[in-house]
Amino acid sequence: MASAYDAIIIGGGHNGLVTACYLARAKWKVLLLERRPIVGGCAVTEETFPGYKVSTAAYVNSLFSPEIIRDLRLKDYGFELVERNPSSFSPFLDGRSLTLGPDRDSNLREIAKFSKKDAENYPKYEAMLERVATVIEPTLTMTPPNLLKPGIGGAWKMLQLARSFQKLGSGMGEAIEVLTGAARPILDRWFESEELKATLATDAIIGAFSAPSMPGTAYVLFHHVMGETNGKRGVWAYVKGGMGGLTQALAKAGKDLGVDIRTDADVGKILVEKGAAVGVALKNGTEFRASRVASNLDPHQTFEVMLDKQWLPADFREAIARIDYSSAALKINLALSEPPRFTACPGSGVGPQHHGTMHFVPDQDYIEHAYDDAKYGVPSKNPVIECTMPSSVDPTVAPAGKHVMSMFVQYAPYKLKEGHWDQVKETFADRCVDIVNQYAPNFKSSVIARQVLSPLDLERLLNLTGGNIFQGSMALNQLFISRPVVGHTDYRTPVKGLYLCGAAAHPGGGVMGIAGANAAREMLKR
Ligand SMILES: Cc1cc2nc3c(=O)[nH]c(=O)nc-3n(C[C@H](O)[C@H](O)[C@H](O)COP(=O)(O)OP(=O)(O)OC[C@H]3O[C@@H](n4cnc5c(N)ncnc54)[C@H](O)[C@@H]3O)c2cc1C
Repeated sequence: MASAYDAIIIGGGHNGLVTACYLARAKWKVLLLERRPIVGGCAVTEETFPGYKVSTAAYVNSLFSPEIIRDLRLKDYGFELVERNPSSFSPFLDGRSLTLGPDRDSNLREIAKFSKKDAENYPKYEAMLERVATVIEPTLTMTPPNLLKPGIGGAWKMLQLARSFQKLGSGMGEAIEVLTGAARPILDRWFESEELKATLATDAIIGAFSAPSMPGTAYVLFHHVMGETNGKRGVWAYVKGGMGGLTQALAKAGKDLGVDIRTDADVGKILVEKGAAVGVALKNGTEFRASRVASNLDPHQTFEVMLDKQWLPADFREAIARIDYSSAALKINLALSEPPRFTACPGSGVGPQHHGTMHFVPDQDYIEHAYDDAKYGVPSKNPVIECTMPSSVDPTVAPAGKHVMSMFVQYAPYKLKEGHWDQVKETFADRCVDIVNQYAPNFKSSVIARQVLSPLDLERLLNLTGGNIFQGSMALNQLFISRPVVGHTDYRTPVKGLYLCGAAAHPGGGVMGIAGANAAREMLKR
């Protein structure tokens, strides 16, 4: 039977949508199958509470590729970024606060409230991270070399990378530390104020089941100097109308390019004949055929759930089984009757303190203790919380005068030593609300409604193994030359015609779209 489609994409996360759009732009006939009633995966907007537009999972855009925005004309389809200025606000219980953002002079004034020396060092620290970012940023859009069979192309890529590191001169050692080391010793060396270090350290642990004292956490520090919003480097943004504004724009672009998008289409099996992918079967038995299949799902779902193991070599299966999905992230979505009134920043109504990410972490030890609980399978007694209130800059997401808030919480270990997440999650969420209430005494009474997504809920809702928000941890041993596994970094798999196109592949998690674009580029090479 002739294939009805040139390619089938399993999963309509933002990466799957990007792959579908690029293939359709190259005149391929593409079918995209999404399990949920809406496309978008982790990047969706849902009216969880009537009248409120909630970004169910991901809540802030950092690195979505400007090139993809241009290529797919996403602005024509309603995609709009709303800048966050300032980008971060950390209140403290002694009544002080630290506000950081794109205005460098204001940052220095704010940091000097805690330490003049830190204010002097901050621009140098940022410059150091920017230097590292200039080396790393070009690798994001690269197909990583296959270390097992580098060939001339792979050897050339490694040489190029070595050359760009060389350009760092004596800064190379520092760059290697940022790429491989722990955040805490780096922050301790640069700064003396715990308030500043705690604010910066929370960035280093986002989505990681690690404490800032653990190797691998420094890698995330430079993410805040990468990327751009509306041409401005390092500025993070909300998507107008919630994160679904991006994926709905991608879906509209895809439809105009001819992509056949089907929702409520739960794929159960990847069909393989003579070692080559030939299509997929839905759980309801419906089959679709194509000579190329790209999975937007994580390696566990793709290779261990959807494929017969006879099609995969034993060493590949072993490598896939070693992937770390450990996770300790929990999300709380809230509808609020009024913005938090911080003791450290009195006054009612919306102010700059609400525009960016609000951190509730007094010092680095607080994060270490929170991690200590979780490593033994206990939800942190004092969790690390960051909140965002996009309605402070985007009135379209909440009824007039009301607000939506995302609360991203760590550490909530997927594997509990005792109890079950369905039983403990509301009590844990109460604790999170209480903590924010210590900083803003009107907070608890302002909560109109809430949705608590435990790591188990994230797994159930989004098919994320272990609730891991990045489709596999972003530890160093699972990045670049080893994402998803060594020898298979070119989006291809041991099954001919089967590709990975999501966060499980390089450059990994986060709403960047780059994995999807890179995968499409490789698929089009045939
Ligand atoms: C709670 C949370 C908060 C986050 N916050 C941020 C943030 O603020 N900023 C940021 O940059 N990143 C954030 N991330 C990470 C980021 O959202 C993800 O790494 C990224 O969106 C993954 O995109 P993807 O397209 O690769 O995969 P996914 O979004 O995981 O998409 C996979 C798609 O496949 C579908 N699917 C699964 N199984 C099947 C099946 N059997 N059949 C058909 N379809 C199926 C899923 O429903 C989903 O739509 C967050 C993630 C989470 C979970």
